[in-house]
Amino acid sequence: MSSQSPNPNESLRIVSLPGDGVGPEVTRAAVQVLEACVKAAGKSLEIIELPIGGAAYDSDGDPLPERTESACKQAHAVLLGAVGGPQYDSLTPDKRPEKGLLRLRKALGVFANLRPVKIYPSLVDRAPIKAEYLRGTDMVVVRELLGGIYFGEPRGWDREVGKAFNTMIYSEAEVRRVARVAFELARARGEAGGKKHVTSVDKANVLEVSRLWREVVTELQKSDYPDVALAHQYVDSAAMDLIKNPGRFDVVVTGNMFGDILTDEAAVLSGSIGLLSSASLGDGPGLYEPIHGSAPDIAGKGIANPIGTIASVAAMLQSSLGLADQSKRVEAAIDSVLQAGHFTADLGGDITTQKMGDLICQALEAQ
Ligand code: NAD
Repeated sequence: MSSQSPNPNESLRIVSLPGDGVGPEVTRAAVQVLEACVKAAGKSLEIIELPIGGAAYDSDGDPLPERTESACKQAHAVLLGAVGGPQYDSLTPDKRPEKGLLRLRKALGVFANLRPVKIYPSLVDRAPIKAEYLRGTDMVVVRELLGGIYFGEPRGWDREVGKAFNTMIYSEAEVRRVARVAFELARARGEAGGKKHVTSVDKANVLEVSRLWREVVTELQKSDYPDVALAHQYVDSAAMDLIKNPGRFDVVVTGNMFGDILTDEAAVLSGSIGLLSSASLGDGPGLYEPIHGSAPDIAGKGIANPIGTIASVAAMLQSSLGLADQSKRVEAAIDSVLQAGHFTADLGGDITTQKMGDLICQALEAQ
């Protein structure tokens, strides 16, 4: 799984998709960090910036223009800001910004979305959850990204009869491939001192889809990962535990919609949704993006937190560019800037998006 590392002498080809709202603001700061790291690694970098989402609808009449899709498929990795905004809400479903992102994920075949939930020590007292609950929190949510109710057919809205419907559907193969990613990750984290534990989250007391999910995950653990502990949990109970006892989770694997919701909830643990990164991996280029949306309420003000996007660059350096050392440098630079008490508005500070990017670059240089 995952994109292959580029050849050592190859120039790194990255497609940057700033998108809408705060997307361009946070992406600018993250690209600056990426450039600094690639330069420090002695490599050359080509960044191709292209439109997606509402911006692409405005420029090309399509939220995922052909030129954007084909450049992404040929890249070593793709960095995305965010898509969407109220001005696009009345468009037909196929023209909506979010549709561009769903189509891109499908085109790249990125079926596993890895969302680490990290608690920066300097932010423990700024998070809305009491510090005592946060102790020991270190988890990665592996969200299935290409199936489930977001893609299931049939779907529709029959206005005449006043009914709308969606279909939640998973095949055994779809469950098995994402569960394998979770078990591999738990095993690797176990080697680095982690709990070596997978929690599979479903709603098997109500949904047949979840019963299939549970059976496939159980069989895979028995046959291929007996060394990794497995627990099953209903999504409602997991939602509660995420707040009451987050330290007990290691790797969480779940379907598309449950993962979407639980990771926004988990963002509360870290202190701000602007801090969390994600890596979407499949067999081709990886797609790296913060977990937040386009934040229309603060767009254009230059105050968005770019750390989730910068941490996504760290994930890209590690998983797609073969530059694990540089990835660690970025993580350390973020840590040190926060430790020094520099915060964006979402965390109660007055540091701008651009300034936060500059500070993280300076911290990189100072290492
Ligand atoms: P959102 O994540 O954009 O915003 C939720 C709240 O978090 C807002 O108060 C916002 O100001 C804040 N926030 C988000 N990112 C932040 C950052 N980097 N720094 C500081 N604060 C930040 O979610 P929403 O309001 O539900 O959605 C807005 C738009 O984004 C919608 O059009 C939605 O469809 C879209 N969306 C896109 C993605 C994506 O591109 N992957 C994900 C979620 C939502």
